[in-house]
Formats: sequence, structure tokens, C-alpha cells
Amino acid sequence: MEQNNICRHNEFCGGCTYQGTDYGEQLRTKESAVRSLFSSAEITPARFAPIEGCPREQRFGYRNKMEYTFGDMVKDGPLCLGMHKIKNFMSIVTVDECQLVHPDFNRILRFTLDFCTDRGYVKYHKKSHLGLLRNLVVRRGVRTGELLVNIVTSSQSEFDEDAWKEGLLALPLDCRIVGIMHTLNDGLADTVACDELRLLYGREYYYEELLGLRFIVHEFAFFQTNVDAVERLYSEALALIPDLEGKTVFDLYCGTGTISQIAARSAARVLGVEIVPESVESARENAALNGLDNCEFVCGDVFAVLDTRQDKPDVIIVDPPRAGMSQEAVTRIASYGVKQILYISCNPKSLVKNLAWFAELGYEAEYVRPYDNFPMTRHVETVVLMSKANT
Ligand code: SAH
Repeated sequence: MEQNNICRHNEFCGGCTYQGTDYGEQLRTKESAVRSLFSSAEITPARFAPIEGCPREQRFGYRNKMEYTFGDMVKDGPLCLGMHKIKNFMSIVTVDECQLVHPDFNRILRFTLDFCTDRGYVKYHKKSHLGLLRNLVVRRGVRTGELLVNIVTSSQSEFDEDAWKEGLLALPLDCRIVGIMHTLNDGLADTVACDELRLLYGREYYYEELLGLRFIVHEFAFFQTNVDAVERLYSEALALIPDLEGKTVFDLYCGTGTISQIAARSAARVLGVEIVPESVESARENAALNGLDNCEFVCGDVFAVLDTRQDKPDVIIVDPPRAGMSQEAVTRIASYGVKQILYISCNPKSLVKNLAWFAELGYEAEYVRPYDNFPMTRHVETVVLMSKANT
């Protein structure tokens, strides 16, 4: 059921820019933002389809991963666990009533925060690099109801792994915890890095299902955060290139190989390229799991890998991170001269910048459609089919 209440955390948590805004209005805002980026970059697609939204029952509770941070709301105040405060990166807001996640995430967060507070554990300080508690990562297999829980600490003092694990397993949850982990991270950067992974319970991966395929998702592997929406997006995007039969497809920035495997059901061969080793490992495992023997996954930077390969693609699909693609990668990709390039983007700003480079190399945007995969937030996905001029 749709909740129209403005979230209790909305004043401080910067996650949901559009909380309380009518959904139709959210869609119009996002679509016009994408349209105006296109016109400012002077890119005029032959067809611009209206934004695709999420059905009512999928506008909340859709996120399958949260990376919470330990800290405090006011300097030296009580321990908090949640998101960085809007416009104040040093403060943390506890978000135990977040509406974008399954309620189990909130239960796990609340339990962990109370557990750590009771034990008198202290947060890891970003500047002094002193302290214990860094992050809590929760992930969920939406179609399988599996949960992974991972606490990230420094190695500066003891953390009672057994008591925390037992407490988690005793929680009344709707989903099932299949893995509990403790990551030790003494790195200075404010990101979830892993010096040592201790598996306290179960396994370090969960299963997910997408478009009839089964996926193993490792704790450190990328997976799309809204499964229902991405399933819609991928099936519509791939339907733009209906004749993959007998063709070689490059799936660049392939993550755990979701797109590769969907394409591999009709294409002759797929080459996936991805920079994170755990994602490549997952992609290989997943292809084997799904009985697809026509996919090859290579680990490395897209440009560096393509530069060493002799194979010639017929179709190229790219799904780069928020920063978009480097100019050398765009140039290399265009140099194959394939008829169609499918660009899936999570950031319309870097998208139009890349499209302008592609335009100089002879590729025109034939079809564009934005997708609202992340209702309430400011994020928007965009699918673009480019074709080579004069082909
Ligand atoms: N299509 C995939 C993932 C898209 S997210 C899926 O749906 O699962 C973008 C991916 O690009 C991430 O997995 C990220 O690790 C990878 N990446 C980022 N920079 C890269 C680069 N220079 N070369 C190759 N992969 C890169």
C-alpha cells in the first residue's frame, strides 16, 4: 500500500528529495530534467519516449541494499547509525524508519545500533581514524527473501561477534538471514573496503532472480538496487535490438553480467567487461548456473581490455557508472563501427556528455527513454539507442 506520510527522517536524511511530492509531479520533473540536458547539449533524438514510472505498489520498499554509517548527529552525541545528514557530511542520521527499504532493514539497523550502544562501542572517527564502528551493510534477494548482514569495523578493539550474530538470528524478521559477516577495514578512506572478511554465519552471497535467470550476488559484487524496475528497463532496452540471433554482443561495464546473460539467450556470443574482480567472478558463476556457455567475462578497465582484444562485435551495450565513460573508451567503442550501440545510463549529465562525443564520431541518438527506477529520490535512469549515421 502506498504511504503518503512524509518520512520521519526527511528533514535530515538527504535520500528522498521528493518525499511528499505527488508521483506524477516527480515523473514530470525527472523527464523534463533529462529533456533539458539533451537540448542544452544540442542532442535531438529522433524519438523521445515519455518516462516510465513504477507502479503504485513499487514506489516504496524497493531498495535491496543499504550501506549505513556509524557516527553521531551532534558532535560527541549519542551513537547513530544511518545516512549522512543532508548538507552536513560529518553528521549521521539514524534511519530506522526508512520507507525505501523492506522493514527488515530497519529492524536489523535498530537492533545493531542498540547492541553497540549497550556495549559502549565507539564510532570510528573519519578524521582522527580512531574508534571501532564504521558501517553496516544489509542486502536482500527480493525474489528469494534472503538477507545478508555485514558489519564493518576497524581492528582497534574487540567486537563481540557471537553475541551480535545470535541477536540477529533471534530477530523476528519476514525474510531469512542467509549470511552474517564481519569485515575488518583499517583503510583511511570513508568507503567500505575489506582487509579481512570473517564469515560468522551461513554464506557470503545471496540468490536473486531476474527475467527467469538465477543470480548469485556476492557481498562485494554490484547488483542493481531496484530489481522490479530494472527488470522492466532491461527487457524494454533489449527489445530495441530484436535480432541478436547469430551476433556477437559486447556488454561493457557488465557488473555481475545480468545484461550479458539476458542477451546470451539469443546472441551467438557475449563478451562482458567489468573492473571489479568479485563482480566478474559472480558473472562467471552465474552464467554457469544458468547453463549459458556462450558468455566470456574479462576483468579490467573497458578501454584497456578492448585495446588488447581482436574480436569484433555486432552490437555494443554499455552501462557505465555515474561518472560515465572516458573519452578514450568512447573513441575505442565507436571505432568498431557497429550499427547500433545501446547506452543504459544512471546519470543523464554524463550521458549527454558521452553522447556529444559519440555524435562527433558518427553516432546519432535514435531513441531515448528515461526510467524512474528510484521513486522519491532525485535519481533517473535513461536508455538510449544510438545508430551509426548512413547505415
Ligand atoms: N550492467 C551491470 C552493472 C552496471 S553499474 C549490471 O546491471 O549489473 C557499472 C559497472 O561498471 C560497475 O559494476 C562498476 O564496477 C563497473 N566499472 C566502473 N568503471 C569501470 C571501468 N573503467 N571499466 C570496466 N568496468 C567499470
